[in-house]
Amino acid sequence: KYPTLGNKVSEGHENFVMAYNMLTGIRVAVSRCSGVMTKLTHEDFKTTKKLSFNIDGSELTPSSKYDFKFKDYSPAVFRELRSLFGIDPADYLVSITGKYVLSELSSPGKSGSFLYYSNDFRFIIKTIHHSEHKQLRRVLKDYYEHVKENPNTLVSQVYGLHRVKMPFRNGRLRKVHFLVMNNLFPPHRSIHVKYDLKGSTWGRLTKIEGPDADLSSVTLKDLNWLERDARIKFGPRKRNLFFKQLDSDVKFLQKINSMDYSLLLGIHDVKKGNIQAMANHLSVFDPRSNDKDELIRTNPRDIQDDDLPSNVFPGRSKYVFYGHDGGIRATGEDNNPIQEIYYLGIIDFLTKYNWIKRIETVWRSISHPRATISSVPATEYGDRFLKFIKVGTTQPKTKQE
Ligand code: ATP
Ligand code: CA
Ligand code: CA
Repeated sequence: KYPTLGNKVSEGHENFVMAYNMLTGIRVAVSRCSGVMTKLTHEDFKTTKKLSFNIDGSELTPSSKYDFKFKDYSPAVFRELRSLFGIDPADYLVSITGKYVLSELSSPGKSGSFLYYSNDFRFIIKTIHHSEHKQLRRVLKDYYEHVKENPNTLVSQVYGLHRVKMPFRNGRLRKVHFLVMNNLFPPHRSIHVKYDLKGSTWGRLTKIEGPDADLSSVTLKDLNWLERDARIKFGPRKRNLFFKQLDSDVKFLQKINSMDYSLLLGIHDVKKGNIQAMANHLSVFDPRSNDKDELIRTNPRDIQDDDLPSNVFPGRSKYVFYGHDGGIRATGEDNNPIQEIYYLGIIDFLTKYNWIKRIETVWRSISHPRATISSVPATEYGDRFLKFIKVGTTQPKTKQE
């Protein structure tokens, strides 16, 4: 049904025990962290909470099928982040732990991380490398400040950082760090083409079989983007908002010394519509339709502060790019909607430029022009990323010539 959907991780799957433990840990830890929110202190960013699970249960933990330890990082900070992102606490728990079924993403990256969709596809659980975990803890304060000042940030929304410690196949105890983030793509709408863009070109090509290959199941990259002469189509109003947000986000990523992140962009082609959608549902996206209320209701990221009747999405009017499952409608130079809807965000932002990456830079620049490789220092990486995305966005005629 869902094009990028991989295997279901349910009882019997080799990663089921790990998934079960992750979900149990989240369920118990998140529901324990309730009560009145008080102003965050310096300590809240450092706090960790440990829980121990076993078959007998304890005062703090219910009985669990398996023995494992769970560690929750900065629970109060993530609770506040979830609230800033407009996530309802009860919804969060139900989405993630209502049913103990996850789905593996079928085409994850090369890093060895596992990515799983929550049962309802709203959230993604990603296992991360120890260095990424350390980086997130190091920059959490900056991240939090950035999110507070940028309600429309395109940077991945991180809702929790946790660790499970449990025996794996060979019986050895292992620690696995993981985070919970937003799924950028809506479960109810087909994504016809998908790009992962870094602004570097070395190795950034996904082989496509023939001109009429089904693109919905692959992730295209920078060279495909250039080859297809693709563009993000925004008229002046959205282009300005988009560029302003990109500038601010990239500045943040440069400040925390991040690199290797990408803009993940999913394009819903309104003409092709939804593969299994009902006709009346699609009529909302008829570009000739001027029914603003309908557009707003189904497309919350499209909202501008000033055109929003305050009763439509109480408390959410400030999210120009991010609602819950809305996308951003493409527009022409006249600011009128055209036939694409974008789902986009900056993902995989926890790789820090360090000495290993420095060696990679030196090694790779022996055989490849420096401008084409992906491991370059954070400032250079960010500038190049920004330039690539801006050039890849429609510009008024005079600027292109
Ligand atoms: P690598 O380091 O090799 O690039 P990784 O293991 O760190 O890969 P990511 O780059 O985070 O993994 O993600 C891999 C793929 O998973 C992305 O290209 C995208 O297709 C999908 N993906 C990742 N994050 C999201 C998200 N928030 N929403 C939707 N899809 C996502
Ligand atoms: Ca990546
Ligand atoms: Ca990565």
